[in-house]
Amino acid sequence: MAVRGCMARQCPLLLPQDREKRVYDGFITAQDQDFRLRILLPSDFQLQNAQLQCSWPLKKVLHGYHQIVKQETALKNTHELHPPPPPQYYSSLVNEIESLGWDKLVYVDTEFSTIKLKADDTAGRKHLITLKFKTKYPVEPPDCIVDFPVPFTISWTPQSSLATIHAQFLAALDSLKMFWDVMDELDEKTWILEPEKPTRSATLRRIAIGNNVSVSIEVDPRHPTMIPECYFLGAEHVVNPLKMKLNNNIHMWDPENTLLQNLKDVLEIIFPSRSTIEKADYTMDCGICYAYRLDNAIPDQVCDDPRCGQPFHQACLYEWLRGLPSSRQSFNVIFGECPYCSKPIVLKMSIKKP
Ligand SMILES: [Zn+2]
Ligand SMILES: [Zn+2]
Repeated sequence: MAVRGCMARQCPLLLPQDREKRVYDGFITAQDQDFRLRILLPSDFQLQNAQLQCSWPLKKVLHGYHQIVKQETALKNTHELHPPPPPQYYSSLVNEIESLGWDKLVYVDTEFSTIKLKADDTAGRKHLITLKFKTKYPVEPPDCIVDFPVPFTISWTPQSSLATIHAQFLAALDSLKMFWDVMDELDEKTWILEPEKPTRSATLRRIAIGNNVSVSIEVDPRHPTMIPECYFLGAEHVVNPLKMKLNNNIHMWDPENTLLQNLKDVLEIIFPSRSTIEKADYTMDCGICYAYRLDNAIPDQVCDDPRCGQPFHQACLYEWLRGLPSSRQSFNVIFGECPYCSKPIVLKMSIKKP
């Protein structure tokens, strides 16, 4: 009885279709659209065994038909391991989504145990939070999964709700605004070599400086305009002057400026951007296999001859030098000739031999 009563109260657009009130049909609103939804309750009126039938567009909104099917087939097993929550769990959760606004919901699974909410930060960046509910909700808070560079913990009382979490999520987004501003500027105005597709939690960037020279920086998410750890990569004759400029100009670093501006001022360079540089005159590809990525490694061995400067993968250069009778090996260092300019090249093996 309680279940049937709730259903009509919480979802006024879902109407019972039969005398026993086991079939409900109607509409729910999600992302400003109305979707047809049909719920079939089993004879014992246990909501957790109810069947959910919805249209394709709604399944698309609920993000991924495959996942729903997978969860449906996995349902039996999880029910045996974890007792299902009481019926009030569902009605209060639907109530909370209703008051938060369906437009903020981007995903819900058929068991209502995982939902995803969206939020825009003040700079218009889109963010998602995944909530995994426990059967004791709302006594216990859900697990919150976010794409942040810092841990995200929520303060929770049994009176808290989805609106509480959403508000705390927005506050956390605000506290990270400066970090993402800094990272977005780097991603837009420089050529990021790594990571290939930075996530919102990624604090590391390897930035191209010139032909076969790059700098790797680790940005502090709490103090994003402070001087980061810098690691230069490239031929020594190019890297050493950059290290000296960093040392000599460090007093010019101004946390009031953006990170990119500070790097430009202190290193006295202009960062090439992907749009201003022709890929042909600016290749970072390995001179042996002609690829950039090889099993996740990038060409980080560089010929030190100023007129050459050709980069190679460590694994490629190792195989090449090992095949030459003129190469010598001493512990983990191999001395040989550059495959391009035949000048002496030294390979220090940083990882175990391939
Ligand atoms: Zn290679
Ligand atoms: Zn060379």
